Amino acid sequence: MSELNLVLLGPPGAGKGTQAERLVEDFGLPYYSTGIILREAVANGSELGKQAKQYMDNGELVPDELINNVIAERLDSGEADDGFLLDGFPRTIGQAEMLETTLEGRGRDLTAALLIDAPDDEVVRRLSGRRTCAKGGHVYHVESDPPKNDGVCDQDGSRLIQRDDDKPETVRKRLSVYHEQTAPLIDWYEGRGKLMRFEGARPPDEVHDRIRAKLAAKRFEDEDEQ
Ligand SMILES: [Zn+2]
Repeated sequence: MSELNLVLLGPPGAGKGTQAERLVEDFGLPYYSTGIILREAVANGSELGKQAKQYMDNGELVPDELINNVIAERLDSGEADDGFLLDGFPRTIGQAEMLETTLEGRGRDLTAALLIDAPDDEVVRRLSGRRTCAKGGHVYHVESDPPKNDGVCDQDGSRLIQRDDDKPETVRKRLSVYHEQTAPLIDWYEGRGKLMRFEGARPPDEVHDRIRAKLAAKRFEDEDEQ
């Protein structure tokens, strides 16, 4: 079997998280979300973890190279020999080049960059409709998953609030940062023939089926070439 070395791209609210969970389940791939692997490196007390901790404690961004080294460490651990699913890195072309070098140095190659895309208006509708239980963090959606009583959590009767992150003006700002950083990265992967685009506005099951079908076809091609 050929490896599945995958990168996930897409705006917030397009359903990346849902698709990531399913892909991890389908293929048994380790899931490398930047936040998670940095916290794990810190918890393990590895040399890289110690370095990362200093930045995090000071509220500074962890430098690209350090994140890349943490990823490389995971690649060298043996757990990702059949592939991996990276989320949150790369976000820029510079980071993508680092990752490419890291993979090449290990005789590996990215299989695909999976873009779970959604129009801005759809993202704003999805995220700004979210309501979160102030006490237990239970999540509702005013259109697609409303509570029985307006503004009240079904599970514990707590008040439902709109998190600052989900306010339309904040969502628009996050989207504009996303477009600015990621649009060039999407082109970059497209130019390398690595981009697979999916419509995140479609039902999650359908998106999942399409991803599986495309990856299966890609694997078939790769094996044919070998
Ligand atoms: Zn609740």
